[in-house]
Amino acid sequence: MKIVLEHLTKKFISRNNKNEIVTAVNDFDFEIPDGKLIGLLGPSGCGKSTTLNLICGLEEPTSGKIYFGDLDVTGLPPENRGVGMVFQNYALYPHLTVRQNIRFPLENLKGADKLSKEVIEQRALEAAKLVQIDTLMDRKPNELSGGQQQRVAIARALVKTPGVLLLDEPLSNLDARLRLQTREQIRRIQKETGVTTIFVTHDQEEAMSISDYIIVMKAGVLQQMGEPQKVYNEPVNLFVAQFLGNPAINVFNGQIRDHGLYIGEDRISDFDAEDQEVYVGVRPEAFIPDEKGPFRCVFDRVETTGRDTSIVTHNENCISDEDIRAIVSADEKLNNENGIIRFSLKPAKVHVFSKEDEKVIHG
Ligand code: ATP
Repeated sequence: MKIVLEHLTKKFISRNNKNEIVTAVNDFDFEIPDGKLIGLLGPSGCGKSTTLNLICGLEEPTSGKIYFGDLDVTGLPPENRGVGMVFQNYALYPHLTVRQNIRFPLENLKGADKLSKEVIEQRALEAAKLVQIDTLMDRKPNELSGGQQQRVAIARALVKTPGVLLLDEPLSNLDARLRLQTREQIRRIQKETGVTTIFVTHDQEEAMSISDYIIVMKAGVLQQMGEPQKVYNEPVNLFVAQFLGNPAINVFNGQIRDHGLYIGEDRISDFDAEDQEVYVGVRPEAFIPDEKGPFRCVFDRVETTGRDTSIVTHNENCISDEDIRAIVSADEKLNNENGIIRFSLKPAKVHVFSKEDEKVIHG
């Protein structure tokens, strides 16, 4: 089921100040293609949960429309939208077994939708198998691990075969290892069922690893939507560039002058754009130690974490962090003369942004 958001806006009266309006979702106007997994990303308070609540019908928009396929669902109550929801805190019924929890949404169907006991049991078992908890059907939630409980919550959301599945920070309560496993499971389940899924997280790595597309939001405004790698490689503005990537992109004060891109007095590359002050974003993987390279930094130390070797340096023009991180291959030779290390930079990993509006500038 494709989801179309048409000029969707949600305003609240601020919780802190009754005279202030908060625009939690500001003019969302885009389409989520059928059968895809979308990672909705952004810092705390940017409007991720409000977006999900609008789509499932828990919140009414201030203006705009929501379509599932060609059907306008804007005025439909949540129970008639065919949406499955999974929340951070699982929200299982503690006194019911896994089986009873999963069956619950089917047992409450009324009238023409009412199902026989046999069909309910069969559908519950199918959903349990899909999330691989069918051997735990008679346990109560407190006899399960966090990851298993979350899978029960997913099975319960899937048992009504929804057209749309919404997951609101579903992995936040899990430890790092379980998080990794459960996110792979979610990806597998989503592929097997083909259900259009929106996955909310503030963890960019999580979103990038399992999503077909990511949407990056800031203060209620969509910044960029696209395939994760494309958004990472071609950020439209400084915010997106800084939000994606770990270690984060290094940001420098720079200039475009004489058809060149400069950081301080170092001419990094040719650059054909109007002379101006700019921000230069350099991904950690952009740096190539090179004794003839144009970019000079003050060497501090080498750090090895797992597979990665980082060269940590300093440069007075860096504004993102005191430490500049360059990720290089472990066998790279370092020429560190008088404490200065020189780099050449991979052009595709260097992004230039306007100081005025922080939008990307192409050279
Ligand atoms: P988090 O990652 O912290 O869960 P979020 O991105 O999901 O945040 P939302 O919960 O959607 O953000 O909130 C977006 C903005 O709308 C915030 O400024 C929040 O304070 C405000 N907001 C959300 N719900 C309400 C409400 N019912 N009344 C007033 N303001 C609200």
